[in-house]
Amino acid sequence: MNQILFFDYCALPIYLIIIYTIFVRKTTKGASNVLFIFLTLFLALTTVFDILAESYGGFLPMTQMERSFFSAAQFCYLLFRNLSGFIYVLFLITYTRTQYRFRRRRTRVLFFLPMALMLTVLFTNPLHHLVYTVSAETGYSRGILIAVLYAGSLYYSLFGTGYLIYCRRFMEAQKLTALISMYILTFASIFWQLIHPRFLVEMYGSSISCLMITLLVLRPEEITDSNVGLPGWKAYKAELHKIVSLKNPVHIIVIRYMNADKIRTYLGEAQYQGYVREIAKGLLQYFHTYDRLFELYYEGPGTLYCVFAGAEYDIFPDLDHIRRMISEHTREYENFGVRMEPRICSIAYPGDLDNETDLIRLGHEFYGLIPFDQTYVRASDLVGTRQYEVGARMDSILNRAITERGFEMYYQPIYSIAAESFTSAEALIRLHDNTFGAIPPGLFIPAAESMGLILPIGDYVLEAVFRFISENDMAGLGIECIDVNLSVAQCLQKNLPEKIRELEKKYGIKPSQINFEITETTYDDIGTVAERNIQALVEMGYSFSLDDYGTGYSNIQRISRLPLSIIKIDKTLVDDMSTKSGDRIIKNVIRMMKDVDKKLVVEGVETREIFLKLSELGCDYIQGFYFSRPLSEKDFLEFCRENN
Ligand code: C2E
Ligand code: MG
Ligand code: MG
Repeated sequence: MNQILFFDYCALPIYLIIIYTIFVRKTTKGASNVLFIFLTLFLALTTVFDILAESYGGFLPMTQMERSFFSAAQFCYLLFRNLSGFIYVLFLITYTRTQYRFRRRRTRVLFFLPMALMLTVLFTNPLHHLVYTVSAETGYSRGILIAVLYAGSLYYSLFGTGYLIYCRRFMEAQKLTALISMYILTFASIFWQLIHPRFLVEMYGSSISCLMITLLVLRPEEITDSNVGLPGWKAYKAELHKIVSLKNPVHIIVIRYMNADKIRTYLGEAQYQGYVREIAKGLLQYFHTYDRLFELYYEGPGTLYCVFAGAEYDIFPDLDHIRRMISEHTREYENFGVRMEPRICSIAYPGDLDNETDLIRLGHEFYGLIPFDQTYVRASDLVGTRQYEVGARMDSILNRAITERGFEMYYQPIYSIAAESFTSAEALIRLHDNTFGAIPPGLFIPAAESMGLILPIGDYVLEAVFRFISENDMAGLGIECIDVNLSVAQCLQKNLPEKIRELEKKYGIKPSQINFEITETTYDDIGTVAERNIQALVEMGYSFSLDDYGTGYSNIQRISRLPLSIIKIDKTLVDDMSTKSGDRIIKNVIRMMKDVDKKLVVEGVETREIFLKLSELGCDYIQGFYFSRPLSEKDFLEFCRENN
């Protein structure tokens, strides 16, 4: 065996393995994957022709036949070698999805012209023999025009290296290393070959780089959501990172399917994914008509992000049409009578939002910031509204409130119909922020729950209420107990009973002075810990009520078995009382609860008329603005003195 070719022979199986893995892992779709296949193929062919040329060119003088063979092999070697360098740059551009940077004619000419020149020079070599000649006696010799090929290769190498440096900000280090290794290894091996001409390591070096790219860069499992076959959440986040790092202007259309979760439960996972695939297919076909560079991403269970690249494209004139098409493509699924309900938000970057966090957040939250019956919103209509700004800064608002004690407890009196006085009150938390003013708990409690900040808030509430009771003569004021809302996270704390026992001791409170309010979710989502806690607290002498009855899927059988003494009927049921069916519902709810021996509180009573009606129907307690809004400690004490 010709020892010079030793490394070339080693490179061949590596290329074969790469091509094999590409097909096994199915990374064959998409422009960058196709280009990578071509790259590997061309490099493998370069190696083959290098071997052939070297094998035929070694013996002088050559026969006519050997000469033609050698000449052809040399031609193919040069062709594929130079094409590979070019294809690699194309691969880098498509992999980083920055093609739109090459829309301008001048940039395109600058990019393609050198390659065109190189190919012309190479293909016309049989006419002028100025690239290389092969003579029977002296063998292979280079001509002056080979400099064009060298210069071209250098041009594309520098171009690719520069491009990678330019893209470094949004690429993970390992990927950048793998991609840039192509150039580093090529230059290193050329340098090596200059010193040791008997070791042709160049193609071997390239094969190692290709292998690195296959392992570290082309990771389908990282990019594609395997179930629906679209790039997934991770890919979307990486894309946003890139967009913001490079300040690439884009338009993003976020489609959130509001009932995705329900439909998934109803159809089952496999069918549901088929449905999503079908919707996505329709959208892809439709977006393709726009002749814009775009990508569709999927985030489970039901969000699609369509990112349109490029500054020059103004999406807004087309938005009406796009919205209509989105609705149309979201049709009923096969012979199931289900249909996804889309809510759409369009975001212009950098016009509407200018950072990654806000882009991600708005995509996740926009539908909560618009009225329920509104299907479309432009980001610019949301950004700047108080609700949006508060939401965007909720993290710092809550942290500030926790460290600087920005919370305060208010108390809403609850009227007992039997006692004809106010015998209890609900403790309701209030947040006052120096910048944004009063923030309603309906907004910050769910946010605190999702940010994992609800426990310190819950601890504050418990401490404040226990202290308030201990500092005032509640019995003297006619107040038997205070209602405290417990969040699900609090109920899940293993040490909740101990915590309360400590507070009990610290403030000298009797358990009968506190009643805890929980919601149905406490029982829905979780099991044993919450149940054990509630049981332990009941045994300690605390009572529990079920809050917001009528807003969930209440199961009367289960409720009757839980250790709950009071049911709080939600305001939404009260608001419905003016209608005939609503009136009947509330009557039946009251009768049903009486049947299973529960006491009833009705929340949200705002008028005397409703108060009288509910008293007549047999409710036990009434809470609402009709009697009083939630009051500060001082005002509450004043209220009790005056009214009890
Ligand atoms: P909730 O526990 O159902 O509290 C009753 C809510 O209804 C209170 O709203 C109260 O101000 C309001 N409300 C009472 N009567 C009327 C009325 O006649 N008309 C109207 N329109 N509203 C009335 P708020 O204080 O905004 O609290 C909202 C929710 O935030 C509470 O609902 C509760 O789920 C949560 N929350 C409040 N404080 C706490 C707390 O200390 N801890 C926890 N975990 N959650 C709390
Ligand atoms: Mg409550
Ligand atoms: Mg309630």
